[in-house]
Order: sequence, then structure tokens, then C-alpha cells
Amino acid sequence: MTETWPLSALQHYMYCPRQCALIHVEKVWSENRYTAEGRLLHLRADSGSSGRRGGVAEDRSVPLRSDVLGLYGIADVVETRQGEDGKEYPYPVEYKRGSPKVEDWDRVQLCAQALCLEEMLGVHVPEGAIFYGKPRRRERVSFDALLRQEVQRVCSAVREMVQKAILPDAEKGPKCRNCSLRDACMPGKATYGVEAYVRSGLES
Ligand code: SF4
Repeated sequence: MTETWPLSALQHYMYCPRQCALIHVEKVWSENRYTAEGRLLHLRADSGSSGRRGGVAEDRSVPLRSDVLGLYGIADVVETRQGEDGKEYPYPVEYKRGSPKVEDWDRVQLCAQALCLEEMLGVHVPEGAIFYGKPRRRERVSFDALLRQEVQRVCSAVREMVQKAILPDAEKGPKCRNCSLRDACMPGKATYGVEAYVRSGLES
């Protein structure tokens, strides 16, 4: 069976490779205000129902999987849109609590969802959207060749890191302020794994 990782691992990796390793290699997880707010926003989207909104058919909490990329997860919402050729195609919509980012983190995660849908359904998924809580609006995302390549690159990096159990050193920066794993990571201090740190604390 193909080894798979949650779609969220891509975001963790792009935010900070060490954060990704702490979660997916060392199995550390800690919630802070930001992750809790994000989880609540997803719970609102994840009602597991189907219906129509504004004349558009949509499914919520759609399970996703890609054996090619080694990913699994859940799409908040998948709408059914009609292309210029009259054919229907799935249109993933991801809900985020914050505001649009300069970085490609959210777009990569959404594009990865699209690639899962393409593999599962055998259709082309040209675009989707991200709904941001601040301000409450949608950003359209086109799944072009560059974005698709970036998804492949990040998937490969996550796969290598998890399979080889690599824990990168901490690179302290502004990102650490909002990191839910700051206590476990101890940026600026830790040079080895959390398990080793805990062990050394118990042995001292
Ligand atoms: S505290 Fe900083 S270096 Fe450590 S995992 Fe979080 S973002 Fe990465």
C-alpha cells in the first residue's frame, strides 16, 4: 500500500520544515489560538452535507487521496462547475481563518486537493478558490503548471523528510511568534530531536 501523509503536511513544511518534522516525524502537536480558530472555521465548513448555494451544487467534507503524490485529506467544499465546453468539473474551495498570504502556502494546499480530485475522478480541475475569514471573501486560484510543479516539489521534500526521519535545526524568525510548537521546538536552543531532549531531561 502506498505511504500517504495528510495534506496539511504541505503547509506545515512550507511554513517551517522543522515544524513539519516535529508533527510528522516526532508526532508532537500543540494547539494555540490560531490553530483553534482555524479548526472551528473548518468545522463550520465540514458539515458533511451536499446541497446548492447560489445555484451551485456543492459537497462538503469530501475525502481526498492521491497514491501518486502520497497524500490524503478532506476538501472543505467541492462545488460542481460547468466549463466552456459544457462539461462539469469539480471546483475545490478551502476555508482559512486569516487573510490572504504573499506566500504560496494556501494555493499549494488547494492545488494538491485539485490533483487528488483529478486522480480520483479522471477529470481536469483548472481552478478553485480559497475563502478567507479576514476579510470574508474568496480568492480564485488557477492551477497552472508552476503551481502544480510546486506541489510536486513540496510533496517530494515532505516524503524524503518523513521517510528518512529528518529533523531540521530550528531557524528562529518572525514565523516562530505564532508557531504552536514553539515550546517543543525551543528555537535558538534545540539542536537535536524532541525525544532526545525529553530523554536528556529525565536522565539529568
Ligand atoms: S518555533 Fe520557529 S523554528 Fe521552531 S518549529 Fe516553530 S516556526 Fe519552526
